[in-house]
Amino acid sequence: MSLDASPFPDERLAGASSDRTTSGARILPSQGLADARGRALRDLRISVTDRCNFRCVYCMPKEIFGHDYQFMDRDELLSFDEIERIARTAVSLGVDKLRITGGEPLLRRGIEELIKRLAALRTPDGRKPDLAMTTNGSALRVKAEALRAAGLDRITVSVDSLDDAKFQAINDVRFPVSRVLDGIAAAADAGLGPIKINAVVKRGVNDDDIVPLAEHFRDLGYTLRFIEYMDVGSSNGWVLEDVVPSAEIVGRIDAVHPLEPIAASRPGETAKRWRYRDGSGEIGVISSVTGAFCGSCTRARVSAEGKLFTCLFATSGFDLRALLRDGVSDDQLRDALSGVWRVRDDRYSEIRAAETPQQRERVEMSYIGG
Ligand code: SAM
Ligand code: SF4
Ligand code: SF4
Repeated sequence: MSLDASPFPDERLAGASSDRTTSGARILPSQGLADARGRALRDLRISVTDRCNFRCVYCMPKEIFGHDYQFMDRDELLSFDEIERIARTAVSLGVDKLRITGGEPLLRRGIEELIKRLAALRTPDGRKPDLAMTTNGSALRVKAEALRAAGLDRITVSVDSLDDAKFQAINDVRFPVSRVLDGIAAAADAGLGPIKINAVVKRGVNDDDIVPLAEHFRDLGYTLRFIEYMDVGSSNGWVLEDVVPSAEIVGRIDAVHPLEPIAASRPGETAKRWRYRDGSGEIGVISSVTGAFCGSCTRARVSAEGKLFTCLFATSGFDLRALLRDGVSDDQLRDALSGVWRVRDDRYSEIRAAETPQQRERVEMSYIGG
């Protein structure tokens, strides 16, 4: 879907009503706002910076994100006021899960202040939205306590290998895995749980780490989620042969530690869950390539400069920052969000096979936040 044109040209100033936005988008009482395929808007991922202190080879390869790479200027980033307004509006439309991401979100100065503001939001029925963050963990030892005190509920940390040489080769900035593991311990001590770990698996790079990772995080009691290496962006040189299918990941662990499938904990959950038959914990697999879950995708994303994306693989986003800096009212902002969601028809993972990578120019993972 192209979002270059406004989906709500004429209806911006109409009056609000209880189950319709001013642009007429339907908000189903039990489901929230529905898109063109009947999917509710439930999750909002907010990227707070496009910068990162890592150069993971599958996300921000050094050849592209080198010294002369032009990251966003400070005034291009959404301010905390702007992020809070967007989040508040999304929550009023049915979002009950907010995730802060990046780039590396802990690099954003004053991030605790933003967490505090978002933690104060309430859903229309008075609940605090689930507030989580995805981080590379490099600054958690320093930040975990303050994040928890500010109201962050949960944290997901990315760890692709426990082998230090391999971990450093993947992050490509010589960052030792021990410091990330220490950051995870700090997060646990601070009460930022349940902690989840993300591991992207790339064939020939870290597929040997599947079982050691599973054993390590099972023993610590954290849920590890394996993510199939995805064709996001245009800079990581993705080819299908590099993807280790979830079925293979599950098979490799099952051969050593028998697994059985378990039900999703909530509608729209991206990970398929498996538990160890001996009761020692669970893992998840996110099959973005081999098992599309577009039919239950309830997620929108806002980039650090305020573009609203309705799909991880979208080619363009809707400019919320322009609206905000133009002085829109709360109703108009609500109309903008609901208008974009209402016409949403994305299902890239379902149709990926019919496209070649060259057919579309996609935004980078570090820009949109994963
Ligand atoms: N810097 C933080 C981190 O690494 O956790 C947050 C942003 S990062 C873009 C969010 C997640 O996207 C990470 O778990 C990362 O491993 C994952 N990711 C990045 N590039 C990916 C790719 N090509 N395929 C699958 N997952 C990817
Ligand atoms: Fe940075 Fe996260 Fe991308 Fe790695 S995956 S380069 S830590 S944004
Ligand atoms: Fe959602 Fe797009 Fe991913 Fe499908 S491809 S699950 S619509 S983000």
